[in-house]
Amino acid sequence: MPVSPETPKSAALFERAARVIPGGVNSPVRAFRAVGGTPRFMDHGRGPYMTDVDGNEYVDLICSWGPLLHGHAHPHVVDAVRQAASKGTSFGTPTAAEVALGEEIVRRTPADEVRLVNSGTEATMSAIRLARGFTERSVVVKFAGCYHGHVDALLAEAGSGVATLAIPETRGVTAEQTAQTVVLPYNDVAALEELFAQRGSEIACVITEASPGNMGVVPPRDGFNEHLRRVTAQYGALLISDEVMTGFRVSPSGWAGLDPAGADLYTFGKVMGGGLPAAAFGGRADVMNLLAPAGPVYQAGTLSGNPLATAAGLANLELATDAAYEHIDRTSAALQGMVAAALFEAGVPHKIQHAGNMFSVFFFDDDEQVRSVDNYAQARTQSPVKFSAFFNEMLARGIYLPPSGYECWFLSSVHDEKVLDRINDALPYAAGAAAAA
Ligand code: PMP
Repeated sequence: MPVSPETPKSAALFERAARVIPGGVNSPVRAFRAVGGTPRFMDHGRGPYMTDVDGNEYVDLICSWGPLLHGHAHPHVVDAVRQAASKGTSFGTPTAAEVALGEEIVRRTPADEVRLVNSGTEATMSAIRLARGFTERSVVVKFAGCYHGHVDALLAEAGSGVATLAIPETRGVTAEQTAQTVVLPYNDVAALEELFAQRGSEIACVITEASPGNMGVVPPRDGFNEHLRRVTAQYGALLISDEVMTGFRVSPSGWAGLDPAGADLYTFGKVMGGGLPAAAFGGRADVMNLLAPAGPVYQAGTLSGNPLATAAGLANLELATDAAYEHIDRTSAALQGMVAAALFEAGVPHKIQHAGNMFSVFFFDDDEQVRSVDNYAQARTQSPVKFSAFFNEMLARGIYLPPSGYECWFLSSVHDEKVLDRINDALPYAAGAAAAA
């Protein structure tokens, strides 16, 4: 169903927004900087669809960048939030729902204990502080192209919007703040061993996306996470597995359910908040018990464990059954097949990579460039021009993709055959546009 090329209400809102909100958006990737055009202001969503303020309906393939495992406005989630809101929006005291959500996370994941926070950024920031407190060391190792939120020390060579906008360095982050951050190429065992051999006794932790999705989907090579586990343990550093994106999305627990490597600390977000602001970090009890008030590492939050957010998260996880994951896995595989078929048919050089049900499509300018993408340097060889042509044609046909080739596509348990048919109808046009670009 083609979308009206005119989106006057979105355009008017964007103009108003730009007067009071920098760049007109509250998170950079929402702006269509990489793909051109006016961002669509959404009015409402239902299941796998969302509708903008001009009345255009889209198939949603970002699902709020991951949280909406069961689509928009799922009645079970909405009811849970409504009920919680009717009892009060926040108390600043403990509540039963935080205990239930904590128990559910501990039941599903390898974490012994968790602390709830409000965003993935807070989770990784706090996990790093805790790792430094535990080891009494200062160096943090991260991988180029991995994004862990906008924590000062972790913005070095970050993925997501930093990659999309090709921001070489974030002004405002001082050299002192990143002096203790070492950035390594992803999937590079030799670089990791060399660094630890030289500076092992200074390293507090290695933080890695459990399976990266912020430079496009770039899964760990076989054994890479095990290797991280082994080397960190050997040198007394902690391994932090950032499951903010993968957690409760690619399996009932997350990447940990697909890859047994394990970690000392984990970070979670997105799905566990059901579309409301909730995130967590957790892991080994001996490490977690250093947190205040049990221990000396301070960490806090006025709205942490908020009753609406915990109700939404619990409701989202209640619906996250084995059958739901099987459905999403199947739908994702079918969609990847459709995209590949359309791109092959149109002769567009590309590579689709997946990590469980998360996937992304790398477009290339010519066939010689097509290869498996194992790190950020390789991810950067993709063609933004072809991606942009593909994105815009899909958008014009009512299919809403992430507006960047560095982001992954997300499905939900309510994306069904009808949705796939609609996407399939649009694909030949978008593939044709990419071929011509
Ligand atoms: N870690 C990962 C792996 C993420 O994908 C994100 C967000 N996309 C974050 C951390 C930061 O989460 P938030 O945007 O909730 O701060």
